[in-house]
Amino acid sequence: MVQPAVWDSHPEPLPLDSAPVPAYGTGSLADLLPTLAAGLGVPGMTAGIPELTPADRNCVFLIDGLGWEQLRAHPEDAPFMTSLLGSSRGGTGRPVTAGFPATTATSLASVGTGLPPGAHGLPGYTVRNPDTGELMNQLRWQPWTAPAAWQPYPTVFELAHRAGVHSAQVSSPTFANTPLTKVALSGGAFHGRLSGEDRMDLAAEQLAGADRALVYTYYAEVDGAGHRFGVDSDTWRGQLAHVDRLVQRLAEQLPPRSALYVTADHGMIDVPFDEQHRIDFDEDWELKAGVALLGGEGRARHVYAVPGAANDVLTCWREVLGEQFWVASRDEAIASGWFGPAIDDRVVHRIGDVVAAARDDVLLIASEREPRESAMVGNHGSMTPAEQLVPLLEVRS
Ligand SMILES: [Zn+2]
Repeated sequence: MVQPAVWDSHPEPLPLDSAPVPAYGTGSLADLLPTLAAGLGVPGMTAGIPELTPADRNCVFLIDGLGWEQLRAHPEDAPFMTSLLGSSRGGTGRPVTAGFPATTATSLASVGTGLPPGAHGLPGYTVRNPDTGELMNQLRWQPWTAPAAWQPYPTVFELAHRAGVHSAQVSSPTFANTPLTKVALSGGAFHGRLSGEDRMDLAAEQLAGADRALVYTYYAEVDGAGHRFGVDSDTWRGQLAHVDRLVQRLAEQLPPRSALYVTADHGMIDVPFDEQHRIDFDEDWELKAGVALLGGEGRARHVYAVPGAANDVLTCWREVLGEQFWVASRDEAIASGWFGPAIDDRVVHRIGDVVAAARDDVLLIASEREPRESAMVGNHGSMTPAEQLVPLLEVRS
């Protein structure tokens, strides 16, 4: 496959009492599809997670927002997935790391392209487009930007499809033609189904219809319940129980010679509603000084400075937030491998002059510019285990 161009400036990595950098190359979301595709004989693919035994028919079920720690904390609400944590069904459950930041657009691109964020180039919830100077929302793709220029690599689905493997995505019809689907989750055929049950049934059909298959399916509402009500709320637990039944429904329909992998794009952490835990950028003149644009989200900020102010902003942000956040310059974050082992030239300046990642249960909200996001109970984005670790559960037939 196309090799990313390497950005060849080499500042020293950060000590930072260091942020736990995602396991790119050996156990991150970006390693899953290439491992499965390598097992299917797709040229150019590397098995980054060699413990996975190749199967002819492969299905990935991605549950938005279900972190490893949250699953482990609720065995009674997820009896089927909990049974997959041991080896009793022949599979093994383990955590893998999402990638930084631990956010949906970034993770879906890592899953679909098999590349870390520094290569696929969706390195945040919102990032600056260096060509326009405007913030771009990577999830909603606003303002619109030419997808193939923003993310030029073929997806693993596309490469598998070209190699004669039946490739399909089974998700909400809403996502059929979105730019994010195009750059991250296209290749082969997309099938929209409204209900989770219909998606499971169709995913099983897609597997059964081919000798060699790579099928993806998705469920969103665990994440939504966590954002609105928190990861231990009745609503969240109800969603967990529902998705547990969906996993079982799919597992019980697997055709022979299949492997089902259940994973997630990120975990989640509840943040208390008080001023100690929710620092408001819009109300803080120290943090605002010299900042042209605030990107990212509450637990993973990209900060774009006005010309000439990057060092001052870094110093100030370290002073104000350094106890509760890992605060790095762009060069330090890149050299420390936050976005992957290498970074493409076109991606470097999408990353903030300063990058701030929460290490406590805190948020840097922006009550005026992001009123909706600032009111969320559950949040994610950073490198703590609660956000970064996602399950990789396996069912074989
Ligand atoms: Zn979310």
